[in-house]
Amino acid sequence: MQFRDLKAQYQALKPQIDKAIQNVLDEGQFIMGRQVRELEESLAEYVGVKHCISCANGTDALLMVLMAWDIKAGDAVFVPDFTFFATAEVVSLLGATPIFVDADEDTFNMDPVKLEEAIQRTLKEGRYHPRVVIPVDLFGLPANYPAIKKIAEKYNLLILEDGAQGFGGRIGEQKACSFGHAATTSFFPAKPLGCYGDGGAIFTNNDGLAEELKSIRMHGKGTSRYDNVRIGLNSRLDTIQAAILQVKLKAFMDYELEKVNQIANVYTEKLRDIVKTPVIPDGYYSSWAQYTIQLDNKEQRDALQKKLQEQGIPTMVYYSKPLHKQKAFEDIASNTNSLNTTGDLCNRVLSLPMHPYLEEKSIAEICENIRRGK
Ligand SMILES: *Cc1c(COP(=O)(O)O)cnc(C)c1O
Repeated sequence: MQFRDLKAQYQALKPQIDKAIQNVLDEGQFIMGRQVRELEESLAEYVGVKHCISCANGTDALLMVLMAWDIKAGDAVFVPDFTFFATAEVVSLLGATPIFVDADEDTFNMDPVKLEEAIQRTLKEGRYHPRVVIPVDLFGLPANYPAIKKIAEKYNLLILEDGAQGFGGRIGEQKACSFGHAATTSFFPAKPLGCYGDGGAIFTNNDGLAEELKSIRMHGKGTSRYDNVRIGLNSRLDTIQAAILQVKLKAFMDYELEKVNQIANVYTEKLRDIVKTPVIPDGYYSSWAQYTIQLDNKEQRDALQKKLQEQGIPTMVYYSKPLHKQKAFEDIASNTNSLNTTGDLCNRVLSLPMHPYLEEKSIAEICENIRRGK
């Protein structure tokens, strides 16, 4: 059994994907070919924003927005304590300081109450200037944007939505990657919409920001490639990856997103009386990057993971360490008292196999083994 079965997906889409790759080889436009532009248009339309700027990966996508906003030493950027390293890494890379915010125990996402506390603490200490908040749509569920937006407006912060895991999610009719002043996603193969290598994208309604990002991804180009008006990056999405994503986006919209939601419902139905199952607030829709259960404590979680492993059932612990405990961030003085929920979650979470090609009998087998193994 696979945790995320990319081979099954390829088998289902093989004729279209092979043809899409062959077309790129025949056309010979490997950098910024027509497929890149076409994909950006489809992605912007799907998400419901004016501009999509594709780039080399989800980390660069975050970095490029912070570069465009001129985030630098002395600035504070509020990030979840419970997320993948990249969300905070880009902040430090620019010399700014990530301020870690605790998670909500039910949704795994940034707790808005803890966000406001962290902002007030930062203002009171007066060392760093609050500039940006980066909420993450963890495991596919949009963060609490209605609450975060109010706080961001109150303290005049920009919102950068890290939708690396969230593409396809919704709050009401509004889609993930449309919530912040800018939003980013990742096309790493295992994400909800993945390509066959690295890839990423930025979404925004702001015309000026979109232009600046197009310049940043091409060495800070001005009117031409050899006119350089700012320091930028080389961060483009390959044409081959764009062509693959055109095929995958169609499958994602036609049936994959709906399928993972059906699978999540079956999991929850079978597991809700045994373990704590994921909480999707009213009106929210997840793209199920992960289906993550909570056990009572670390011993129980680790023992269950081992038993499942022995039965050939792969599971993952996302994440085993809060960001503020990572060695790379040891120099940042965090208010550890305010970060208890993340530490607790790190000890109790377990993510189960989840992808659109997971079969009914595999789900039954996984749930039966959890029932017996807990
Ligand atoms: C995967 C991920 C990223 C980084 O994306 P890459 O394409 O791997 O660079 C950033 N943030 C979160 C929350 C992620 O899960």
